[in-house]
Amino acid sequence: MLDGRRTLLRAAGAVDGVRKIAPASILIEDREIVAIGSPETIGVVPEARTIDLPEEVISPALINAHVHLDLTGLGPMPCDRGFEDWLARIRNSRPTRPFEVAEAVRQGVEASIRGGVVAVGDIAGALGFASARALADSAIGGISFIEVFGIGRRSENGLDGVDRVIQFAGELPGRPGFGVGIQPHAPYSCDAATYNAAAASGLPVSTHLAETPEEAEFTRFGRGPFLDLLRAVGSLGAGDTLETGGSHPIDALFAVEPARTWLLAHLNYPAEPDEPEEFLENRLKRLADRDATVAFCPRASAFLGHPRPGREGHRWRDYLEAGIGVALGTDGMPCLDTPDRLSVLDEMRFLAGCEGPVDPCGLFRMATIAGARGLGLDSNAVTLDAGPLAGLLAIPGTGPDPVGDLLARTDAPRWLLAPDRAAFGVPR
Ligand SMILES: [Zn+2]
Repeated sequence: MLDGRRTLLRAAGAVDGVRKIAPASILIEDREIVAIGSPETIGVVPEARTIDLPEEVISPALINAHVHLDLTGLGPMPCDRGFEDWLARIRNSRPTRPFEVAEAVRQGVEASIRGGVVAVGDIAGALGFASARALADSAIGGISFIEVFGIGRRSENGLDGVDRVIQFAGELPGRPGFGVGIQPHAPYSCDAATYNAAAASGLPVSTHLAETPEEAEFTRFGRGPFLDLLRAVGSLGAGDTLETGGSHPIDALFAVEPARTWLLAHLNYPAEPDEPEEFLENRLKRLADRDATVAFCPRASAFLGHPRPGREGHRWRDYLEAGIGVALGTDGMPCLDTPDRLSVLDEMRFLAGCEGPVDPCGLFRMATIAGARGLGLDSNAVTLDAGPLAGLLAIPGTGPDPVGDLLARTDAPRWLLAPDRAAFGVPR
C-alpha cells in the first residue's frame, strides 16, 4: 500500500470512466494524482520513488450502486427449485435481529472491500436502522436506502415508515461520504402516497422498478401474481380492490413529485410488448429529463431468469444513448457466483464476456462515475483526474491489451490506496 510520499507508478495500464492508457505512468502524492499519461509523456521523476507494476492495471475504487449487504451471510443460493422457493428460503434465512443484521452488513462491507468497492447503494431491509448504522460506522461510504412497505390495508405503514426514516436520518450524526435515503420497495408493495412521501422527504430515493413483466401486469391491470401475494400476506382483504392507476410502473413514477435523486434498480422491462413503440421512447426521454440513474445488476438479472423467453435483453445501451445514467450493481450475494466478494468488477467482466464488444471506459464509467452520481457523491473521487482519491486499485492484467485482459480474468483487485470515503465530501 502507498504512503503519502511522492511516488511514480509504472503499470501495465490505467483505466477509468474516461481514459484507457497502456502502458501507464501515474505520479501520485498524498492520495492525489499529480500527473497521468504514457511513460513517454511523464518521463522520469528523479525526486519520486518508483514502483513498477508490470502485470497490473491501475483503476480508481469502484461503486456498487445496488446491493443488499444484509444478505451477504446467506452466500450464493442456487435457484434450482423455482423462484418462489428461492425467495421463501431467503425470507426464512435472512437475519432479522438487529445485532445479526449489523454483523451481516459488516460481512458485506468486508466482501465489498475485497472487491475494490469504496461506496454502495445499500438496501437496508424493512426499516433496517441497524443496517444503516453498521454501514455508517464502516470503512466504506454510500447511501443506506432504508426500505419501506405500504399498500392496501397497510398503506399507513408506508407513510409511517417514511416519517421514521426522516427522523432517523435527522438524528444520525453526519459522516463524510455517507447518507441515509429511502427505498419504497417496489410499485407492487408501495402505493402512490408512500412514493410521494418518500420523494417529498428531501432524502435520496431508490426503488425497484420495472423488474418483472408481472409488475407491469399489476400496475396496469391490477391483477396477476402480485395481487395474489398482497391477498396472501393480508395487505388486501378478500373483497378489497386496489386502485393502481392503470399505468406502466415507469409512467406511474412520473406521476410522483421529482425526488432529489431517483436511483432505479433493474428497469429490466421498460415497455410491454402490446404497447405502441413511442411509449418506450417517451419514457427514456422523461427519465433522462429527470436525471434518473438506472442501477443495472447484470449477473443477478441473468441469475433470476431475465430476459424472460421472448423478451428483449436489458436495454442499458439504449438508456445510455438516451442520456440516462446507468450504474452497475451486484444485488445480493444469493444471486452471485463470487462467494468471497461483492464487486461490480465482476459485473463488468460478465458484460464483457456476454455482450460482444464493449468499450472498457464505458464499463468503468458505469462502475464508478455513474454510481457516484446516482448516489449523490462527488464522482471526481472515482476518476484518475487530479484531486483526492476515494481509493486506488491494482488489478491483474498483462499483454498487448492489459485492460481487455483484466476483464477476461477472474482475479481480485488489490488496494494501492485504502478506501477513504471522506474524498466524497458530504453527499448532495
Ligand atoms: Zn434489490
